Amino acid sequence: MRGQKLTVGIVSTNKFLTNIVKEILHHLGISFEEIDNKTPVNFPCVILPVQKEEDFSIASKLCQNEENILVFDNICSIKSFCLALGGFLDQGQIANRSIEPKLSVIEFKLLENIKDCFFRLDLPLIRKWYWPSFTDACFVVTHDIDSLDPILRFSELKGKIGLNWLKFIFNFIRKRTGQEIFKLVREENRRQIKSTFLFFPDYGKDHNKFLAILDLLKRMNFEIGLHASEFSYCNQNILENEKKQLEELVDSDLKGIRQHQLNFLPPFTWRYQEKIGFNYDLSFSHNIDFGFRSDICFPYHPIDIIEKKRFNLIEIPTSFMDWTALYKDINYDEIWSILMKLDDTIEKLHGCFVVNFHNSYQNQNFPLIERLYSQLLDHVTKKNYWITTAGECTSWWLKREKTELSAFFLKNTIKGNISSPLPIVIETTDEIIKLDLKKTSFSIKLNDNVNNPK
Ligand SMILES: [Zn+2]
Repeated sequence: MRGQKLTVGIVSTNKFLTNIVKEILHHLGISFEEIDNKTPVNFPCVILPVQKEEDFSIASKLCQNEENILVFDNICSIKSFCLALGGFLDQGQIANRSIEPKLSVIEFKLLENIKDCFFRLDLPLIRKWYWPSFTDACFVVTHDIDSLDPILRFSELKGKIGLNWLKFIFNFIRKRTGQEIFKLVREENRRQIKSTFLFFPDYGKDHNKFLAILDLLKRMNFEIGLHASEFSYCNQNILENEKKQLEELVDSDLKGIRQHQLNFLPPFTWRYQEKIGFNYDLSFSHNIDFGFRSDICFPYHPIDIIEKKRFNLIEIPTSFMDWTALYKDINYDEIWSILMKLDDTIEKLHGCFVVNFHNSYQNQNFPLIERLYSQLLDHVTKKNYWITTAGECTSWWLKREKTELSAFFLKNTIKGNISSPLPIVIETTDEIIKLDLKKTSFSIKLNDNVNNPK
């Protein structure tokens, strides 16, 4: 006898809606099975994407308890998730922006509901942890390299017009620029951080300097991705040529991309990026606001809302960019408190914290940004975070998603298999067990809380 299966069932009569539910369960690390009325198993919890009579009758045959049939739409609003994953959530909502990833907060409500279903039946909930080695969150530093030798652009003068303007120009000319990338490498290297640098495929007269920088970054194991030019977001040929051009220079495949100025046209930009072989994108975020453009703080598979299909490519949501702070012209304490709010929320939700610091502002002309960057690195290195490149983050997230976890509960013992060992968490009403599995099969005995009530 194998005991009770510890898997969530999803009634999948509508593939498109089921994919949305699956995406959210992946974020939470919950193992699930798609079911129909021929599935011969009893599930502790069954999820229907939307309230539908026909699905409900399938669920009630497969679920032990009618209370344990959850309607995703009633908890999470499938429409909001559909718009978010499709890249259309922020249409018309600009006035209500906050830095809180509202949908990820709701994802946790779903998790709590699923837990309640398991606990009602005195069953433990077993799921995959978010990040390697039980780290609380993932932190990714990225750098858009708009110019190798930063020059002053009009947009950066915003808020500096006035008496300070002349002083600003004078300081800019006086102070040395052009060394910023080396400074970033030094700062990160001494904290043992590897970041992701996003480059255009061509920097004109600075070509030799560009080759030397690429060589240095490669030798030091930093990641290199494409910073695609201004109009490439709506032109697959431009995008493909830029990818090839930079790949020739770095002599390896590029996995990741960020569009210059975050120009984006969903779903087309994702389509082009995926078609030409990118694994992840870092573009889908706000220019003039901090926070999460899709209200989700996990890496996610966007959906093509026209073709009604899920992309294989991953969007890793960037929630902080130095340019935004300059644009808003706010003081150090204000920016720091925004960063700490973001940090706090992401840590609690176990999400992914992606920041974008341009080399252009890592000089004495922008003391506030320089200070912010180094103070943030000091802060995150003290935390229990997995600090890694965007490429590594993507590989982990895809591996975790592909990993199958199946477990059965009998006589207070969980026996199970995992297709590739990774950290798992087991929750009951009175204990939380964290295990960094090293083997593909496991057997875990729980506290006998029936005989020893607390
Ligand atoms: Zn740029």
